Amino acid sequence: MVECSFCGRRAVHYQRTAGVYRCDRCFVENLEKRFRRTVAKNNLVEPRDKIVAAVSGGTDSVSNLHLLAQHLEYRKGEVLSLTIDEGIGGYRDESLPVVKENSQMLGVEHKILSFEKIFGKSLDELAKLSEEKNGPDPCTLCGILRRSLLNQAARELHADKLAIGHNLDDVVQTIVLNYLKGDLSRLYRLGPDLEGREGFVPRIKPLREISEKEAAIYALLNDLSVHIGTCPYIGGMRSEVREFINRMEKNHPTTKYRILRMFDKIRPHLPVNFEDFELKECERCGEPATGQLCRSCELLEELGVERRKKRLISD
Ligand SMILES: [Zn+2]
Ligand SMILES: [Zn+2]
Repeated sequence: MVECSFCGRRAVHYQRTAGVYRCDRCFVENLEKRFRRTVAKNNLVEPRDKIVAAVSGGTDSVSNLHLLAQHLEYRKGEVLSLTIDEGIGGYRDESLPVVKENSQMLGVEHKILSFEKIFGKSLDELAKLSEEKNGPDPCTLCGILRRSLLNQAARELHADKLAIGHNLDDVVQTIVLNYLKGDLSRLYRLGPDLEGREGFVPRIKPLREISEKEAAIYALLNDLSVHIGTCPYIGGMRSEVREFINRMEKNHPTTKYRILRMFDKIRPHLPVNFEDFELKECERCGEPATGQLCRSCELLEELGVERRKKRLISD
């Protein structure tokens, strides 16, 4: 039996970068401490905050919801869970009950927004249209639509923050992807501090220093109900970047942390000034836009799809 380096109980995890073993209790305690440290260091949560957590049902977002609910109870805040049902056959339909179960367990209100109801079409249908019209690939398309729905819903719910379950792996992949694509403004917006522009609900990523594997172990050790599955549309450059970074991490431990740390150091010096362009309200959905329409409504127009609902949350 391998013993926990801290208490001598049976170890369940080896942290290669620090050379320490942890038992189930010490693992959970350490992860919760790191979660709180990320939140405190970047000032992600304030007392009495109302936070909307985007929860897909995967290990990251479910762990994030539990950690946030725990944290907000002590900060006297409130958390709500929000799931986007994109309409991905055989994938999302299985994860919706999982989010419902976790929300009920925590006594958290759960809202679902469906592409079908809002746009009149599922992602599966939109992806076909986009392919016919040489539009963006399904992953990009989904990302744009989901992002704006999350922001709009959080705004309509009067949330102080929108919490996303992105872990260390996701954040590091996105940093490298934006380098490869040369997208400076996207790169800048990945930072830990909050995007406080009018119309945007600040997005927080409390798991940005916790790896995908650690979030999965946390869910497992806490016996959380999660949906294990891979989105059928995953692919493209992100998969290549993911493989590359995982290989580097294997051969050179702490690569992921070092990419994140380096990014956090250079980010304040990036020559990006958002005050330069003024934001208006999108004519169709009210989201922040640089022109008459926001990116999401522009995309729908290109695909010839008419949006059915202007407001998302009926009060
Ligand atoms: Zn221990
Ligand atoms: Zn719009």
